Amino acid sequence: MIYEDYAIFTPGPVKMSDEILQVGAQQTPYFRNQQFSDITFSCEKDLLEMVNAPEGSKVIFLTASGTAGLEATVMNLLNQEDNALVVNGGGFGARFVNICATHGIPHSNFKVKNTDLSDIETLAPKGNFNSLIVNAHETSVGHLYDLDAMGDYALKNDMLYIVDAISMLVTDPLDMQKSNIDLVIASSQKGLALPPGLTMVILAPKALEKLHDINSLYFNFKDYLKNGERGQTPYTPAVTIMLQLKARLDQINRRGGIEQSIAKAKEVARYFRNSIKALPLKEYTAYMPNAMTTLSPTDGKSAMDIVNALESDYKVMVCPNGGAERDIVFRVSHMGEMTKHYTDILINALHDYYGVARN
Ligand SMILES: *Cc1c(COP(=O)(O)O)cnc(C)c1O
Repeated sequence: MIYEDYAIFTPGPVKMSDEILQVGAQQTPYFRNQQFSDITFSCEKDLLEMVNAPEGSKVIFLTASGTAGLEATVMNLLNQEDNALVVNGGGFGARFVNICATHGIPHSNFKVKNTDLSDIETLAPKGNFNSLIVNAHETSVGHLYDLDAMGDYALKNDMLYIVDAISMLVTDPLDMQKSNIDLVIASSQKGLALPPGLTMVILAPKALEKLHDINSLYFNFKDYLKNGERGQTPYTPAVTIMLQLKARLDQINRRGGIEQSIAKAKEVARYFRNSIKALPLKEYTAYMPNAMTTLSPTDGKSAMDIVNALESDYKVMVCPNGGAERDIVFRVSHMGEMTKHYTDILINALHDYYGVARN
Protein backbone atom coordinates (compact mmCIF):
# COMPACT_ATOMS: atom_id res chain seq x y z
CA MET A 1 0.00 0.00 0.00
CA ILE A 2 0.00 2.93 1.39
CA TYR A 3 -0.53 6.16 -0.50
CA GLU A 4 2.75 6.17 -2.35
CA ASP A 5 1.16 7.55 -5.46
CA TYR A 6 -1.02 10.06 -3.66
CA ALA A 7 -0.42 13.79 -3.71
CA ILE A 8 0.11 14.78 -0.09
CA PHE A 9 -1.27 17.95 1.52
CA THR A 10 -1.63 16.70 5.10
CA PRO A 11 -0.12 18.76 7.95
CA GLY A 12 2.24 16.04 9.09
CA PRO A 13 3.66 13.83 7.87
CA VAL A 14 4.29 16.09 4.89
CA LYS A 15 5.80 15.57 1.47
CA MET A 16 9.53 14.85 1.71
CA SER A 17 12.16 15.55 -0.92
CA ASP A 18 13.87 12.75 -2.86
CA GLU A 19 17.16 13.73 -1.27
CA ILE A 20 15.78 13.05 2.21
CA LEU A 21 14.08 9.84 1.13
CA GLN A 22 17.40 8.56 -0.20
CA VAL A 23 19.12 9.12 3.14
CA GLY A 24 16.34 7.05 4.70
CA ALA A 25 17.06 4.17 2.33
CA GLN A 26 20.63 3.68 3.62
CA GLN A 27 21.82 1.25 6.26
CA THR A 28 21.58 2.82 9.72
CA PRO A 29 25.16 3.34 10.97
CA TYR A 30 26.61 2.81 14.44
CA PHE A 31 26.44 6.07 16.33
CA ARG A 32 28.61 6.01 19.47
CA ASN A 33 31.51 7.59 17.66
CA GLN A 34 32.95 10.96 16.71
CA GLN A 35 31.45 10.86 13.22
CA PHE A 36 27.93 10.76 14.60
CA SER A 37 28.76 13.30 17.32
CA ASP A 38 29.80 15.67 14.54
CA ILE A 39 26.39 15.18 12.87
CA THR A 40 24.67 16.05 16.16
CA PHE A 41 26.83 19.13 16.68
CA SER A 42 26.16 20.29 13.14
CA CYS A 43 22.37 19.84 13.57
CA GLU A 44 22.50 21.72 16.86
CA LYS A 45 24.43 24.61 15.37
CA ASP A 46 22.12 24.92 12.35
CA LEU A 47 18.95 24.68 14.44
CA LEU A 48 20.18 27.37 16.84
CA GLU A 49 20.93 29.60 13.87
CA MET A 50 17.56 28.89 12.28
CA VAL A 51 15.66 30.24 15.29
CA ASN A 52 18.26 32.91 16.14
CA ALA A 53 18.75 31.45 19.61
CA PRO A 54 20.66 33.58 22.12
CA GLU A 55 24.28 32.82 22.97
CA GLY A 56 24.60 29.80 25.25
CA SER A 57 21.43 28.05 24.02
CA LYS A 58 21.34 24.24 23.72
CA VAL A 59 19.35 21.67 21.75
CA ILE A 60 18.01 18.42 23.18
CA PHE A 61 17.24 15.62 20.71
CA LEU A 62 14.45 13.34 21.88
CA THR A 63 13.50 10.19 20.04
CA ALA A 64 9.76 10.54 20.38
CA SER A 65 6.87 12.34 18.72
CA GLY A 66 6.22 16.03 19.29
CA THR A 67 3.90 15.55 22.23
CA ALA A 68 6.81 14.05 24.19
CA GLY A 69 8.61 17.36 23.65
CA LEU A 70 5.62 19.25 25.04
CA GLU A 71 5.28 16.95 28.04
CA ALA A 72 9.02 16.68 28.78
CA THR A 73 9.28 20.48 28.64
CA VAL A 74 6.55 20.91 31.23
CA MET A 75 8.09 18.16 33.39
CA ASN A 76 11.62 19.61 33.31
CA LEU A 77 10.82 23.32 33.52
CA LEU A 78 7.74 23.62 35.72
CA ASN A 79 6.69 22.32 39.10
CA GLN A 80 4.04 22.87 41.78
CA GLU A 81 5.49 26.25 42.64
CA ASP A 82 4.96 27.63 39.15
CA ASN A 83 1.85 29.09 37.58
CA ALA A 84 1.46 28.74 33.84
CA LEU A 85 -0.76 30.72 31.51
CA VAL A 86 -1.61 28.23 28.75
CA VAL A 87 -3.03 29.56 25.50
CA ASN A 88 -5.74 27.19 24.35
CA GLY A 89 -7.05 27.91 20.85
CA GLY A 90 -7.77 24.31 19.87
CA GLY A 91 -6.64 20.73 20.13
CA PHE A 92 -2.94 21.36 20.70
CA GLY A 93 -3.52 24.12 23.25
CA ALA A 94 -5.86 21.71 25.05
CA ARG A 95 -3.03 19.17 25.01
CA PHE A 96 -0.75 21.55 26.92
CA VAL A 97 -3.56 22.16 29.43
CA ASN A 98 -3.92 18.40 29.78
CA ILE A 99 -0.18 17.96 30.32
CA CYS A 100 -0.13 20.62 33.06
CA ALA A 101 -3.10 18.96 34.74
CA THR A 102 -1.48 15.51 34.47
CA HIS A 103 1.68 16.76 36.19
CA GLY A 104 -0.08 18.85 38.81
CA ILE A 105 1.29 22.16 37.50
CA PRO A 106 -0.83 25.15 38.58
CA HIS A 107 -2.12 26.69 35.37
CA SER A 108 -4.82 28.78 33.79
CA ASN A 109 -6.66 27.47 30.71
CA PHE A 110 -6.65 30.65 28.58
CA LYS A 111 -9.24 29.85 25.90
CA VAL A 112 -8.92 32.07 22.84
CA LYS A 113 -10.82 32.47 19.60
CA ASN A 114 -10.63 34.92 16.69
CA THR A 115 -7.54 36.70 17.93
CA ASP A 116 -3.84 36.38 17.21
CA LEU A 117 -3.18 37.72 20.73
CA SER A 118 -1.48 40.87 19.49
CA ASP A 119 -3.48 42.43 22.34
CA ILE A 120 -2.66 39.75 24.90
CA GLU A 121 -2.07 42.46 27.47
CA THR A 122 -5.80 43.22 27.63
CA LEU A 123 -7.10 39.72 26.87
CA ALA A 124 -5.05 37.63 29.29
CA PRO A 125 -6.67 36.72 32.60
CA LYS A 126 -5.14 38.48 35.58
CA GLY A 127 -3.05 36.28 37.79
CA ASN A 128 0.36 35.73 39.22
CA PHE A 129 1.73 33.77 36.25
CA ASN A 130 5.42 33.04 35.86
CA SER A 131 5.24 31.18 32.56
CA LEU A 132 3.48 31.53 29.24
CA ILE A 133 2.88 28.50 27.01
CA VAL A 134 1.65 28.66 23.43
CA ASN A 135 1.48 26.63 20.22
CA ALA A 136 2.78 29.23 17.75
CA HIS A 137 0.60 27.68 15.06
CA GLU A 138 -2.50 25.98 16.50
CA THR A 139 -2.58 23.28 13.85
CA SER A 140 -6.07 22.03 14.65
CA VAL A 141 -7.55 25.19 13.14
CA GLY A 142 -4.63 26.71 11.21
CA HIS A 143 -4.22 29.75 13.37
CA LEU A 144 -0.96 31.66 13.94
CA TYR A 145 -0.31 33.78 17.04
CA ASP A 146 1.66 37.00 17.33
CA LEU A 147 4.88 35.73 18.91
CA ASP A 148 6.37 39.24 19.27
CA ALA A 149 3.42 40.66 21.21
CA MET A 150 3.35 37.62 23.46
CA GLY A 151 7.08 37.91 23.99
CA ASP A 152 6.76 41.56 25.06
CA TYR A 153 4.02 40.56 27.48
CA ALA A 154 6.12 37.67 28.86
CA LEU A 155 9.17 39.88 29.30
CA LYS A 156 7.21 42.64 31.00
CA ASN A 157 5.65 40.17 33.43
CA ASP A 158 8.85 38.19 33.97
CA MET A 159 7.41 34.95 32.58
CA LEU A 160 9.24 31.98 31.12
CA TYR A 161 8.07 31.93 27.49
CA ILE A 162 7.60 28.43 26.04
CA VAL A 163 6.71 28.09 22.35
CA ASP A 164 5.65 24.93 20.52
CA ALA A 165 6.81 25.77 17.00
CA ILE A 166 6.32 22.27 15.63
CA SER A 167 3.97 23.21 12.80
CA MET A 168 5.41 26.57 11.74
CA LEU A 169 9.16 26.19 11.80
CA VAL A 170 10.68 26.45 8.30
CA THR A 171 7.48 27.92 6.78
CA ASP A 172 6.88 30.89 9.11
CA PRO A 173 9.30 33.23 10.89
CA LEU A 174 10.45 32.54 14.41
CA ASP A 175 13.21 34.51 16.13
CA MET A 176 13.99 33.62 19.73
CA GLN A 177 15.98 36.78 20.42
CA LYS A 178 13.56 39.18 18.80
CA SER A 179 10.52 37.60 20.49
CA ASN A 180 12.22 36.91 23.86
CA ILE A 181 11.43 33.19 23.57
CA ASP A 182 13.04 30.99 26.23
CA LEU A 183 12.23 27.55 24.84
CA VAL A 184 11.20 26.24 21.42
CA ILE A 185 9.86 22.78 20.62
CA ALA A 186 10.33 21.43 17.09
CA SER A 187 9.52 18.07 15.62
CA SER A 188 10.58 16.16 12.54
CA GLN A 189 7.38 15.49 10.64
CA LYS A 190 5.97 18.98 10.01
CA GLY A 191 7.86 21.90 8.46
CA LEU A 192 11.15 20.05 8.73
CA ALA A 193 9.65 17.50 6.32
CA LEU A 194 11.27 14.39 7.79
CA PRO A 195 9.71 11.16 9.02
CA PRO A 196 8.05 11.34 12.46
CA GLY A 197 10.04 10.28 15.51
CA LEU A 198 12.54 13.03 16.33
CA THR A 199 11.75 16.00 18.54
CA MET A 200 14.04 18.91 19.33
CA VAL A 201 13.81 21.13 22.39
CA ILE A 202 15.79 24.35 22.09
CA LEU A 203 16.59 25.97 25.42
CA ALA A 204 17.83 29.53 25.88
CA PRO A 205 19.97 30.24 28.99
CA LYS A 206 16.93 31.35 31.00
CA ALA A 207 15.29 27.97 30.39
CA LEU A 208 18.53 26.10 31.10
CA GLU A 209 18.77 27.85 34.47
CA LYS A 210 15.24 26.84 35.38
CA LEU A 211 15.73 23.08 34.79
CA HIS A 212 15.11 21.03 37.92
CA ASP A 213 15.63 17.43 38.92
CA ILE A 214 12.71 15.30 37.85
CA ASN A 215 11.22 11.93 38.50
CA SER A 216 11.82 10.44 35.05
CA LEU A 217 14.66 8.52 33.48
CA TYR A 218 14.01 8.87 29.76
CA PHE A 219 12.88 12.49 29.81
CA ASN A 220 15.53 13.92 32.10
CA PHE A 221 16.81 17.00 30.25
CA LYS A 222 19.91 17.32 32.45
CA ASP A 223 21.00 13.90 31.29
CA TYR A 224 20.52 14.90 27.64
CA LEU A 225 22.52 18.08 28.17
CA LYS A 226 25.37 16.20 29.82
CA ASN A 227 25.53 13.69 26.96
CA GLY A 228 25.06 16.53 24.48
CA GLU A 229 28.39 18.02 25.51
CA ARG A 230 30.04 15.22 23.51
CA GLY A 231 27.39 15.19 20.75
CA GLN A 232 25.54 12.17 22.08
CA THR A 233 22.19 11.26 23.65
CA PRO A 234 21.68 9.06 26.75
CA TYR A 235 19.77 6.43 24.76
CA THR A 236 19.75 5.32 21.12
CA PRO A 237 18.54 8.23 19.03
CA ALA A 238 16.53 7.99 15.81
CA VAL A 239 19.88 7.72 14.02
CA THR A 240 18.52 7.74 10.49
CA ILE A 241 16.22 10.69 11.14
CA MET A 242 19.19 12.55 12.62
CA LEU A 243 21.07 11.92 9.37
CA GLN A 244 18.02 13.11 7.46
CA LEU A 245 17.85 16.20 9.67
CA LYS A 246 21.47 16.97 8.81
CA ALA A 247 20.69 16.56 5.10
CA ARG A 248 17.57 18.71 5.44
CA LEU A 249 19.36 21.54 7.26
CA ASP A 250 22.08 21.45 4.60
CA GLN A 251 19.36 21.55 1.94
CA ILE A 252 17.69 24.57 3.54
CA ASN A 253 21.02 26.39 3.69
CA ARG A 254 21.94 25.43 0.13
CA ARG A 255 18.57 26.70 -1.12
CA GLY A 256 19.21 30.15 0.31
CA GLY A 257 18.63 29.75 4.02
CA ILE A 258 15.60 29.87 6.25
CA GLU A 259 14.38 33.21 4.82
CA GLN A 260 14.21 31.58 1.41
CA SER A 261 12.25 28.59 2.76
CA ILE A 262 9.77 30.91 4.45
CA ALA A 263 9.41 33.03 1.30
CA LYS A 264 8.78 29.89 -0.75
CA ALA A 265 6.09 28.62 1.63
CA LYS A 266 4.47 32.04 1.61
CA GLU A 267 4.44 32.13 -2.17
CA VAL A 268 2.91 28.65 -2.45
CA ALA A 269 0.28 29.36 0.22
CA ARG A 270 -0.68 32.61 -1.51
CA TYR A 271 -0.83 30.91 -4.88
CA PHE A 272 -3.17 28.24 -3.51
CA ARG A 273 -5.46 30.75 -1.78
CA ASN A 274 -5.67 32.96 -4.87
CA SER A 275 -6.29 30.02 -7.19
CA ILE A 276 -9.41 28.76 -5.42
CA LYS A 277 -11.25 32.08 -5.11
CA ALA A 278 -13.96 30.97 -7.56
CA LEU A 279 -14.87 27.95 -5.44
CA PRO A 280 -17.46 27.87 -2.63
CA LEU A 281 -14.81 27.69 0.06
CA LYS A 282 -13.84 30.33 2.56
CA GLU A 283 -10.79 30.77 4.72
CA TYR A 284 -11.57 29.68 8.25
CA THR A 285 -9.33 32.13 10.10
CA ALA A 286 -7.91 35.57 9.43
CA TYR A 287 -4.58 34.57 11.00
CA MET A 288 -3.35 31.84 8.68
CA PRO A 289 0.28 30.76 8.69
CA ASN A 290 2.20 30.03 5.50
CA ALA A 291 2.23 26.45 6.74
CA MET A 292 -1.41 25.69 6.14
CA THR A 293 -4.78 26.82 4.79
CA THR A 294 -7.96 25.89 6.64
CA LEU A 295 -11.09 25.98 4.49
CA SER A 296 -14.78 25.91 5.22
CA PRO A 297 -17.44 25.08 2.57
CA THR A 298 -19.92 27.90 1.94
CA ASP A 299 -22.43 25.87 -0.08
CA GLY A 300 -23.61 23.54 2.68
CA LYS A 301 -21.40 20.66 1.56
CA SER A 302 -19.78 18.56 4.25
CA ALA A 303 -16.03 19.16 4.58
CA MET A 304 -15.60 15.45 5.26
CA ASP A 305 -17.28 14.56 1.95
CA ILE A 306 -14.80 16.81 0.13
CA VAL A 307 -11.86 15.17 1.90
CA ASN A 308 -13.16 11.72 1.00
CA ALA A 309 -13.85 12.63 -2.64
CA LEU A 310 -10.36 14.10 -3.05
CA GLU A 311 -8.88 10.90 -1.72
CA SER A 312 -10.95 8.37 -3.63
CA ASP A 313 -11.51 10.19 -6.93
CA TYR A 314 -8.34 12.26 -7.28
CA LYS A 315 -5.73 10.50 -5.10
CA VAL A 316 -5.17 13.72 -3.19
CA MET A 317 -4.78 13.69 0.59
CA VAL A 318 -5.93 16.70 2.57
CA CYS A 319 -6.74 16.65 6.26
CA PRO A 320 -10.19 16.41 7.84
CA ASN A 321 -11.05 17.67 11.31
CA GLY A 322 -12.69 15.50 13.89
CA GLY A 323 -15.52 16.03 16.32
CA ALA A 324 -17.80 19.01 15.93
CA GLU A 325 -15.74 20.41 13.07
CA ARG A 326 -15.95 17.27 10.96
CA ASP A 327 -18.36 18.78 8.45
CA ILE A 328 -17.19 22.36 8.83
CA VAL A 329 -13.50 22.50 7.96
CA PHE A 330 -10.67 20.71 6.22
CA ARG A 331 -7.01 21.57 6.16
CA VAL A 332 -4.43 21.89 3.39
CA SER A 333 -0.75 21.86 4.31
CA HIS A 334 1.89 23.85 2.44
CA MET A 335 4.72 22.37 4.49
CA GLY A 336 7.42 20.18 3.02
CA GLU A 337 8.52 19.74 -0.58
CA MET A 338 5.89 22.04 -2.06
CA THR A 339 5.86 23.89 -5.35
CA LYS A 340 3.14 25.74 -7.27
CA HIS A 341 3.27 22.96 -9.82
CA TYR A 342 2.62 20.28 -7.18
CA THR A 343 -0.12 22.41 -5.60
CA ASP A 344 -1.82 22.56 -9.00
CA ILE A 345 -2.77 18.90 -8.52
CA LEU A 346 -5.00 19.90 -5.61
CA ILE A 347 -6.23 23.12 -7.21
CA ASN A 348 -7.25 21.24 -10.35
CA ALA A 349 -8.88 18.44 -8.38
CA LEU A 350 -10.98 20.94 -6.40
CA HIS A 351 -12.11 22.71 -9.59
CA ASP A 352 -13.02 19.42 -11.21
CA TYR A 353 -14.88 18.30 -8.07
CA TYR A 354 -17.01 21.48 -8.14
CA GLY A 355 -17.35 21.45 -11.93
CA VAL A 356 -15.88 24.94 -12.10
CA ALA A 357 -13.43 25.88 -14.86
CA ARG A 358 -10.12 27.18 -13.58
CA ASN A 359 -9.30 30.66 -14.80
C1 LIG B 1 1.84 17.83 15.28
C2 LIG B 1 1.89 18.75 16.43
C3 LIG B 1 2.38 18.35 17.68
C4 LIG B 1 2.93 16.98 17.96
O1 LIG B 1 2.10 15.92 17.72
P1 LIG B 1 2.70 14.46 17.70
O2 LIG B 1 1.62 13.66 17.09
O3 LIG B 1 2.98 14.07 19.11
O4 LIG B 1 3.97 14.50 16.90
C5 LIG B 1 2.43 19.28 18.69
N1 LIG B 1 2.02 20.55 18.51
C6 LIG B 1 1.54 20.97 17.32
C7 LIG B 1 1.14 22.39 17.19
C8 LIG B 1 1.47 20.09 16.24
O5 LIG B 1 1.00 20.52 15.06
